[in-house]
Amino acid sequence: MKNHTRDELDTEYFVLRDEEAGLDGVIALHSTALGPGAGGCRFWHYPSREEMTVDAARLARGMTYKNALAELPLGGGKAVLRVPEGQYDREKLFRAFGREVEKLRGRYLTAEDVGTCVTDMEAISSETKHVAGLAQVPGRPGGDPSPWTARGVFGAMRYLALEHLGRPLADCTVAIQGVGNVGGALARLLHAGGAKLILADTNSERLAALATQTGAEVAATSDFCSIKADILAPCALGGVFGEASTARVRAKIVCGAANNQLVSEQDGVRLAERGILYAPDCVVNAGGIINVAAEHLGWDEAEVVRRVDGTAERLARVLARADQLDVAPNLAADGLARERVRQGTALAA
Ligand code: NAD
Repeated sequence: MKNHTRDELDTEYFVLRDEEAGLDGVIALHSTALGPGAGGCRFWHYPSREEMTVDAARLARGMTYKNALAELPLGGGKAVLRVPEGQYDREKLFRAFGREVEKLRGRYLTAEDVGTCVTDMEAISSETKHVAGLAQVPGRPGGDPSPWTARGVFGAMRYLALEHLGRPLADCTVAIQGVGNVGGALARLLHAGGAKLILADTNSERLAALATQTGAEVAATSDFCSIKADILAPCALGGVFGEASTARVRAKIVCGAANNQLVSEQDGVRLAERGILYAPDCVVNAGGIINVAAEHLGWDEAEVVRRVDGTAERLARVLARADQLDVAPNLAADGLARERVRQGTALAA
């Protein structure tokens, strides 16, 4: 057996295969101590089954931590599906996935993630009720969770700019990597707030359109970590900060939506040692899952606003704990999340 982490081994895996529908994926269920394992469905290109499974495990663990830190009655899970090579019927594929979600009888709750959208969730919902992120009904939470994620990240950034740079966001330059659902919404919020933007995305059409809309500068994706900006906001995929890339960071703050931005815990320590404030992704990107929880639990929109706008306060608590313990913020966040899960496990016992 290869070198797997404890979390990868502790996770429950459900292999998803339906050749006719083109379904090839895995659901990773990391914890149900605080409630159903909730986390989106990623639809992405993976070179191998093993890479897909390892990614699902890491994302599922991140969801456990994120949900615990956002004080939601939810555990952590994630589905990862491989994009089929060649032609496929998208609705058929997501309906097949919905049947797999249904088999877990509510232990896993799915929603959007990278590569999936409201239409896919609608297809899933014809097979199971354990899905959120459905088309919005007026007055009720639902729909694409991305604007909520962007709102939470924006709130955290505004707090960090004042607290750690001593100036408002309007006087800051923010570099965003990935201007998709979340990064695009974040760019528009920042632009409306007067911040200067530098944008990078592998999708050159999307990038050019948003740069024109927001008057942003455009950067090469390979240069992202070394961009001279006040704040770096990774909003594409994970694994942005490894040993080599942390050494290249010139910004004072890292605060973005991408899940699992650090390659390892040690990279958070490296950033802290260089005096760079890393806002743990699992703390600042919970806006979307708060909206998903609201849809699932029947909360109203005012409750979603209250909880999403509480992101900066929750971040402040994590940073205070990091200071108190003299550890990097990512370690403080992980410790706090594990404590909450342990308390939940003890209460359920
Ligand atoms: P998305 O697919 O809409 O956008 C991702 C964007 O990143 C795309 O425009 C893509 O072209 C770009 N991209 C991919 N690789 C890149 C690279 N190497 N360099 C630059 N750009 C690249 O996804 P999204 O929903 O906006 O999610 C973005 C990130 O935020 C993901 O890591 C996701 O897990 C995380 N996240 C999303 C939500 C949500 O509500 N959607 C919630 C929490 C966390």
